[in-house]
Amino acid sequence: MYTGYQYTIKREYKNTNEWRCRRRPCTISLSLCRNNISVIREPGDHTCTPPSPKKRFVEEAISRMKKRANEETNSPNILPGNYKNSC
Ligand SMILES: [Zn+2]
Repeated sequence: MYTGYQYTIKREYKNTNEWRCRRRPCTISLSLCRNNISVIREPGDHTCTPPSPKKRFVEEAISRMKKRANEETNSPNILPGNYKNSC
């Protein structure tokens, strides 16, 4: 991920990696240092649209809910047996 776009590795050089935009036919590419942290060459203007931040937020919320549901399933407090005992 870089500035909201998804990239896929295109070519590995000795000291740099070349990445291209994942969304075809967009052909924007950028070069990163071998550690993928420093940008050697900034990407140009994409012909594709970036994934919307709102959608990403929804996906995060869903994954949070799933995580919570998992935790509740594992919690002994909601076992059916406990409800019987409290009556
Ligand atoms: Zn693109």
